[in-house]
Amino acid sequence: MKIFLAFSLLLSSTLFFTPLNSEAKNQIRILVVTGGHTYDKPSFNEMLNSLGKDISSEVVEFPAAYEQFLPENRGKYDVLVFYHMWQKSTPEQEKIFADCIREGKPLVVLHHSICAFDEWPEYWNIIGGKYFHKPTVVDGKEYAPCSYIHDIHFTANIVDKKHPVTKGVKDFEIFDETYKGYYIAQGAEPLLTTTEKSSNSVIGWTWQYGKARVVTLQSGHDTPTFQNENFRRLLKQSIEWSYAGIRAYRAINPS
Ligand SMILES: [Zn+2]
Repeated sequence: MKIFLAFSLLLSSTLFFTPLNSEAKNQIRILVVTGGHTYDKPSFNEMLNSLGKDISSEVVEFPAAYEQFLPENRGKYDVLVFYHMWQKSTPEQEKIFADCIREGKPLVVLHHSICAFDEWPEYWNIIGGKYFHKPTVVDGKEYAPCSYIHDIHFTANIVDKKHPVTKGVKDFEIFDETYKGYYIAQGAEPLLTTTEKSSNSVIGWTWQYGKARVVTLQSGHDTPTFQNENFRRLLKQSIEWSYAGIRAYRAINPS
């Protein structure tokens, strides 16, 4: 009887847990990289949790985050989400970092990560943009130092309502910090725009770096944006779309 009971318990628990396990298999594991800028951790983490059970997240901080770009650690997560403003790097760290993304790690870049790595031009190539802290020449064009203003109410306009990142999102109001004067690489596809005067007009774009899809969203300074339902949806769909890119690539190029 005892054996039978144990067996039936085992069976029922197996049956019960199977759907959960298969859900876990479809989960997208994001690695959020922070460091070099303060932020409201509880409300940022609450936004990460709001992405739902299909997306699990882990947060790592620079400089320790460099470890995660090493080939042996790349299989531990599916998509990188940048929310850092880190500046320091060695040539060796830069190479491993760039290789990780070039070889196919999808990337979503938020807010002050556009301002990171002032001394490393390849980072600007990785994200397809850059906020300059000092006069800088890119592709023969001189850019003046950029500017920012906090606490601006403005409207974010959707460029293509059919794009998987912006699908289902209508033009929306946002209360955030704006940046003006930043560089966006030629060939980047605009996702979001604004007519707000203190901002660049393009405030969201997609980019390709090697095998990786990259999505950059300029907004995301603080809690009002972390709690903005439209921003949360854009973040979720950015993660899903960038990950879908490498899955499609691997399906036709199995290693
Ligand atoms: Zn900010």
